[in-house]
Amino acid sequence: MTAPAERLDRFMARANAAYYATRDPFADFATAPEISQAFGEILGAWAAVAWRAMGAPDPVLLVEAGPGRGTLLADALRLVARVAPDFAASLRLHLVETSPRLRAIQAAALPGHAVTWHDRIEDVPVGPLILLANEFLDALPIRQLVRTGTGWSERHVEAGGFALRDGAPPPAPLDGRAVAPGEVLELCEPALAVVRHLSDRLAREPGAALFLDYGPDRPGNGDTLQALRDGRPADPLANPGSADLTAHVDFPALRDVALSCGAAVRGPVGQGAFLSELGLFARTERLARDRSPAEARALVDAAHRLAAPDRMGRLFKAMALCHPSLASLPGFATEIP
Ligand code: SAH
Repeated sequence: MTAPAERLDRFMARANAAYYATRDPFADFATAPEISQAFGEILGAWAAVAWRAMGAPDPVLLVEAGPGRGTLLADALRLVARVAPDFAASLRLHLVETSPRLRAIQAAALPGHAVTWHDRIEDVPVGPLILLANEFLDALPIRQLVRTGTGWSERHVEAGGFALRDGAPPPAPLDGRAVAPGEVLELCEPALAVVRHLSDRLAREPGAALFLDYGPDRPGNGDTLQALRDGRPADPLANPGSADLTAHVDFPALRDVALSCGAAVRGPVGQGAFLSELGLFARTERLARDRSPAEARALVDAAHRLAAPDRMGRLFKAMALCHPSLASLPGFATEIP
């Protein structure tokens, strides 16, 4: 007997839960904080500036969604302790992570810090907050709707391949998108829910949420589901749980949702522009000064990998949601109109 067809988002949720529970994702791909310590440091500095712009609330929740190995936060907190000790003393750490295995790795990366873990962003307590999330949204499960001549169908997974079933038209904010017959429209309901929740909160409460991820800055359609297994592109439907499944983040849709909830939005801007404005290259030069020539070269290479337009600088974007009073958050001077 063959297994019944499973909707793509349910397949992806199951596959990624198994993957993050059992594998070391970072053997399969290198994320920005694992490429250079300057990345987490710069996000720490960004958080300190956001905190001051909020009026320096004490306490303040510093939240990271999908913290992976905890590297970003370890780098951010080390810098903050030195340059903004008042912020370091005020912050309360809350991590959103579903994998017990990664929670243990995060605890080990943050010795001496009191940390509270949550399964969902909705469980983070109320209060002024600053949230950081790097490559979190791209791991959340997507649906793929396909425009037909007369309506919509939806991709399911059956026997290791795609099967089309009858589908419904996309909900807001994707309902107005032009989609040609045969084209795929991706819908990431958990990402929309996360942004809706945070935006409702940030419309009322002081705070800011910074997302860095890969995806387009203009509305675009098409299948972007991809899998990395052993560091190489692989068939996303084969051997669920053995590969990391991701899809492009639909920044224009997330932006629309945030604005409709009454939050302010900055960006998306290219990651290269964001990090450069915040001093990636100055910080890298400073770090390189105390290193051997080979280590210094590696640090400079890493900064280019994060910021160069033909590497991670343009496909990756930064976008912030914030309380409308925080219009001057740094990093968004090159905002795409
Ligand atoms: N931010 C890290 C890790 C990115 S990998 C880095 O840049 O290196 C994605 C992270 O999100 C992992 O920690 C994974 O366990 C977590 N994650 C994936 N799906 C999740 C979900 N639905 N809820 C909470 N965390 C999730």
